[in-house]
Amino acid sequence: MNAPAPNAKLADPIARRRTFAIISHPDAGKTTLTEKLLLFGGAIQLAGAVKAKRNAQQTRSDWMSIERERGISVVTSVMTFEYGDCVFNLLDTPGHEDFSEDTYRTLSAVDAAVMVIDAAKGIEARTRKLFEVCRLRDIPIVTFINKLDREGRDPFELLDEIEKTLALDTTPITWPISKGKTFAGTYCFATRSVRKLDKDDEELKVSGLDDPALTALLPPFEADQWREEAMLAEEGSKPFDLAAFREGHLTPVFFGSALRNFGVRDLIDAMAAYAPSPRGQQADKRLVEANEPKMTGFVFKIQANMDPNHRDRIAFMRICSGRLQRGMKAKLVRTGKTTALNAPQFFFARDRSIADEAFAGDVVGLPNHGLLRIGDTLTEGEDLVFRGVPSFAPEILRRIVIGDAMKAKKLREALTQLAEEGVVQLFIPHDGSGAIVGMVGALQLDVLATRLSSEYGLDTKYETSRFTLCRWISSEDKAVLKSFIESHGSAIADDIDGDPVFMAPSAYSLNYDAERNTKIVFSDVKDYQ
Ligand code: GDP
Repeated sequence: MNAPAPNAKLADPIARRRTFAIISHPDAGKTTLTEKLLLFGGAIQLAGAVKAKRNAQQTRSDWMSIERERGISVVTSVMTFEYGDCVFNLLDTPGHEDFSEDTYRTLSAVDAAVMVIDAAKGIEARTRKLFEVCRLRDIPIVTFINKLDREGRDPFELLDEIEKTLALDTTPITWPISKGKTFAGTYCFATRSVRKLDKDDEELKVSGLDDPALTALLPPFEADQWREEAMLAEEGSKPFDLAAFREGHLTPVFFGSALRNFGVRDLIDAMAAYAPSPRGQQADKRLVEANEPKMTGFVFKIQANMDPNHRDRIAFMRICSGRLQRGMKAKLVRTGKTTALNAPQFFFARDRSIADEAFAGDVVGLPNHGLLRIGDTLTEGEDLVFRGVPSFAPEILRRIVIGDAMKAKKLREALTQLAEEGVVQLFIPHDGSGAIVGMVGALQLDVLATRLSSEYGLDTKYETSRFTLCRWISSEDKAVLKSFIESHGSAIADDIDGDPVFMAPSAYSLNYDAERNTKIVFSDVKDYQ
């Protein structure tokens, strides 16, 4: 089927949208940068500074006490703010790798990312992993090298590391004027201008790298060397190429200090100027363009307990095309049923408000009582399903048991709800034995137990399962699949969608079975359908 004709009236608000996430290794400064970005957008009046997180004053992404206790970001949320002509939707991602699934799902809903690098540390493990996820989706990346106010590594070395370890071309847009204690600001190659550390809102035009006003900012013994290096950086780097950036092959690089609120302005201006407006999204049947007239969207996150007074669940939906209007009817493609979007919500730094309308690129929260699941597609009637909200085979499997057998049914219901939210994966063994939960990181075990106890009044225990890993199984030949399932009964379970998984005690035994059953596909990733 061909895409319907784009609707010109929609194009403008959509062109203003920038939907992005920040990727970084913990402690590189993501939270600090987020707060500073929100300040620019006027979304929060006071920079609560990063300390808010540690002081347990509730910051935006601090809904769960477990997260406050540990000082980490567990949940994913969205923050919308306006700056200049643009509407920014910043999707927050959990910092801890035990919640990486959440992060991967969130990255399926953005059009660009900011990569924050600690100038003293360079590319760290998690930056690299998240970058790889972005690369799979060709997400353009703007790089912010942070903490220039501290002693850090040589800027050339950092650029070189990005190029080599990530195979990503770099173009420094700004260049740091000294660093550490003597960090004085940045020089912008294209505009020949200087921003001073203590006056980030002023762009001081200079005649070039030789300008005495620039030299005056440097410690005298550094000036010559700095000039030489800056010249080398300017002449030696690839010119900024918008197409290469948009395709994910080149990253513009900015230097700054989130803590000192320096360099953030250039970064946000770059996001406005270079980052793409909402991109077309691939669905099973066709590519859906953002400026098509009809609304489509997919759910990438479910959040419970955002408001302790209301036991509602909020489904976060990325709008892929068209315009969402409050009260409109939408089809939930998984069930074929129609639902009214009566109270879509926008999220700002400290509060949320009802959205009367929202456009492609926006993320709205849809309150619901269990109707919507991760991976669901909503449309104005068309049967299509967006791809790319993946589920990964868990790395931890545990049998979950409850002392009071009378509560087994309640436990099953609670686990189903939590699995729909993406908190755990739930596997129901074919042999009738107790439910097995799967997760990527050990912290999720704590979150699950805490939520079962506090929200459902269920005190549970984990028992190690004899299985340590599982794979989704499928086959082009349905009879082959059926016979495999029948002959491996006790190692087969159904996931929450009723899709079969094969569980194995070790990688060795998994390989053993895989080698003997070549018509069965054993997959460690499942796309939600
Ligand atoms: P996250 O884990 O990536 O969210 O990192 P945070 O934003 O929580 O920052 C980690 C630590 O680095 C905190 O102590 C921050 O105050 C500090 N930090 C963040 N940005 C800067 C910066 O630009 N300069 C300095 N000196 N410290 C920073």
